Amino acid sequence: MVTQERSLVARISSLVEAHRLGQTGHDWQRDIATRFGALGVYGDIGGALMVRPDGSVLSMGWDEEQASAASDGWRITALAAASYRFPELFDLAPERPPTARPCWKCEGSGCEYCFGMGWLPDSLG
Ligand SMILES: [Zn+2]
Repeated sequence: MVTQERSLVARISSLVEAHRLGQTGHDWQRDIATRFGALGVYGDIGGALMVRPDGSVLSMGWDEEQASAASDGWRITALAAASYRFPELFDLAPERPPTARPCWKCEGSGCEYCFGMGWLPDSLG
């Protein structure tokens, strides 16, 4: 597990670079890596969430040119998605907020929808 000893900045940066070069990831993740130098971690019909190497989380609508700082709710979603989809970013996994509800899909056992956490960030229904 050598990668876990690298700094978060280095781990995110190398993922961004792999996306930018098209070595891995989807087209939208490559686009985000190229345009924003950030790691695309979550996308739905409304837009995408991305994590920059400094750990900040941005959100972007698909029809928007700019990304902007994500709300707290979406930030939790982004960090959960990042830790679930990129094993080397496991330590980004968010704490469960007191207001979080159990995942209605898996009832707490952890599934793709809740990023394996068993609970849902407020921004997901
Ligand atoms: Zn679930």
